Amino acid sequence: MTLPVHVWITSYTNVSAHAQTLTILTSHPAPASDVSQNCFAQVVEPTRGRVYFLFKYFWLRGDKMLDFFTIFSKGGIVLWCFQGTGVTESFTGPVNALIRSVILQERSGNKSFTHEALNLKYKLDNEFELIFVVGFQKILTLTYVDKLIDDVQLHFRDRYKNELEEKGAMKLLNHSFEFEGDFKMLLREAEESSKARSPAPMRSFKESEKSQKTVKSMIETKGGDKEKEQGSKKSKNTKKEELVKADVGKSTSPAPKLVENGTHGLTAEELMQKRREEFFRKRTAGAAEKVSKSPKPQKPKEKQMRVWGMSGSSTKDLDYSDKNGESSNGCDQNQDAPVDPGMQLNPMKGDLQSVECDSSDDEEEEEEERVVVNATVKTSSKKSGGFGGMFGMLKGLVGSKSLNLEDMEPVLEKLRDHLIAKNVAAEIASQLCDSVAKKLEGKVMGTFTTVASTVKQALQESLVQILQPKRRVDILRDVMEAQSQRRPFVVTFCGVNGVGKSTNLAKISFWLIENGFTVLIAACDTFRAGAVEQLRTHQRRLNSLHPPEKHGGRVMVQLYEKGYGKDAAGIAMEAIAYARNQAFDVVLVDTAGRMQDNAPLMTALAKLIAVNMPDLVLFVGEALVGNEAVDQLVKFNQALADHSMSDKPRLIDGIVLTKFDTIDDKVGAAISMTYITGQPIVFVGTGQTYNDLRSLNARAVVSALMKA
Ligand code: GDP
Repeated sequence: MTLPVHVWITSYTNVSAHAQTLTILTSHPAPASDVSQNCFAQVVEPTRGRVYFLFKYFWLRGDKMLDFFTIFSKGGIVLWCFQGTGVTESFTGPVNALIRSVILQERSGNKSFTHEALNLKYKLDNEFELIFVVGFQKILTLTYVDKLIDDVQLHFRDRYKNELEEKGAMKLLNHSFEFEGDFKMLLREAEESSKARSPAPMRSFKESEKSQKTVKSMIETKGGDKEKEQGSKKSKNTKKEELVKADVGKSTSPAPKLVENGTHGLTAEELMQKRREEFFRKRTAGAAEKVSKSPKPQKPKEKQMRVWGMSGSSTKDLDYSDKNGESSNGCDQNQDAPVDPGMQLNPMKGDLQSVECDSSDDEEEEEEERVVVNATVKTSSKKSGGFGGMFGMLKGLVGSKSLNLEDMEPVLEKLRDHLIAKNVAAEIASQLCDSVAKKLEGKVMGTFTTVASTVKQALQESLVQILQPKRRVDILRDVMEAQSQRRPFVVTFCGVNGVGKSTNLAKISFWLIENGFTVLIAACDTFRAGAVEQLRTHQRRLNSLHPPEKHGGRVMVQLYEKGYGKDAAGIAMEAIAYARNQAFDVVLVDTAGRMQDNAPLMTALAKLIAVNMPDLVLFVGEALVGNEAVDQLVKFNQALADHSMSDKPRLIDGIVLTKFDTIDDKVGAAISMTYITGQPIVFVGTGQTYNDLRSLNARAVVSALMKA
């Protein structure tokens, strides 16, 4: 039986100003070459047994397919641009988003980027410091874009070599680059070449192999070709396995929602979230297959008795043994805590000090460079036959060569391993190195530089860029702002168990109190025995350090607790209402530590955040973690997105990096955490006294990271 040919146009939709969608039911003929085809369903009509293939066709209209093509310098000067016919939207928004979310965030390892309905493909020309960007509707499949972008880059460089070599922003600004004609020609060529490669027309049933088969040949004979049978069984099994895998993937990661952080309302942030969401999705899907995780940090699984005074300021251990959960109703104002005579804390007024790390001395770098130089000397002395020595060495040093991937690969390999050794998650180390390679490819090295030093410097800059906060983080100012609105500033702390949530929450309380703010601690870890008492001890301690007499009779810190087993979201809500009534400046919400895979607890956390809408959601993570950091953050964020009831779920918007004092120069977790979330490290815990709280110093961290 042959299948009938049906062409059935069901609808026309305007996809954009320059593309229309025709939904066509057809089995034959194949689409014309100027039509981009997208088969999205196959329908079998039950009564007549006809098979329809449901296609989406996009009517292409030559240069109207592209929204825009622009060439600009890395300094931001637009040298030339083309706008598709009928396109009215400006391309500034998408291009700015690309710069903010990709170029400035060291994510240029990829060649494309999506912004709302647009797909952007870009290419960096590092030699002339140019960026080529083409934008088109993401619903379209344009196979020629890569070729077009390459061709345009070559042509533009060739044509304006002299002007570009002069560089200088003023010169570029004053020069007009007439490129329309060339561009249209290149576009036509690229389109033609893609047509030439367009898929072969679909075969009719008659032409197919199946039509040649007789019914007999299709009947399987027992004991026939066993191997064949086994083979087919095997392939069936693997197919099954694949399906199971896919299912597992599905069940562990339900179709993620559009992840957007409602707090900041920045387009760049939204974009980042989207990109990150993709990353999370990939990771969570792949998580099941992942075997090689970094060894978990040797952290005590059970709570251990803490020793205060690692940094020498205080001496007494905190002892909770006599406070077995006597739970007052609601607020605990008890201030008669024993004042630790050994506790000598320094004042912490104003902004926090930043962390100091040992800065690197570049000895190792020198050594590395010597290796590169030596290699160059060898080759150059061979070539120059006798003019080795000094001359050869100089030749190796004086950069006249543009960087290519082959030259960079050994250096990048080394740097990648170095980053991993410093505790940067392996996946992120690789992505960073790829991004640096993309950034440098084709760039002409400066005089007296080597490949190693150029690559290293670029990586260093990228790392600083990653750590530098993308948005203003000034909690003291934000608290004052909330004060002026007569509402408390609410911070939620979340993270896995034992990372230092309560301890650092107490340190942050101390810092806030030192700055004259009153704090209400909401004990929302209603899960772990001892959690409430631990907070009560801190509250008493803090009040003994800042007794009401010093503050005009005002109790500076109180604990809001309802014991154990209750709904954490409800307690947080009551605490916030209480703080509002009692005019507290800040509410710090402690939540139960939870493993990132614990779905019920994750749902509870998402609920707490969704219901109470804190001003800040801080993820508390240990600086000791390696690859695990990525796993935790990805899953926390994904869980917050998945379990949230909103379309725009609230995600982590800052990080508290704890135990920074215990890691020496293995500071990689700072990079992994900021890279994954795109959010700043707001606090760094550097010990076990209330004074051991710092802000991050990107440069110091990076120099510790680069230190061999
Ligand atoms: P939670 O379960 O997340 O609330 O963790 P805790 O606050 O109870 O802290 C767990 C352990 O880590 C305690 O022994 C703390 O004293 C310790 N800790 C917390 N922050 C730091 C830090 O910045 N440096 C060091 N060295 N230890 C810390």
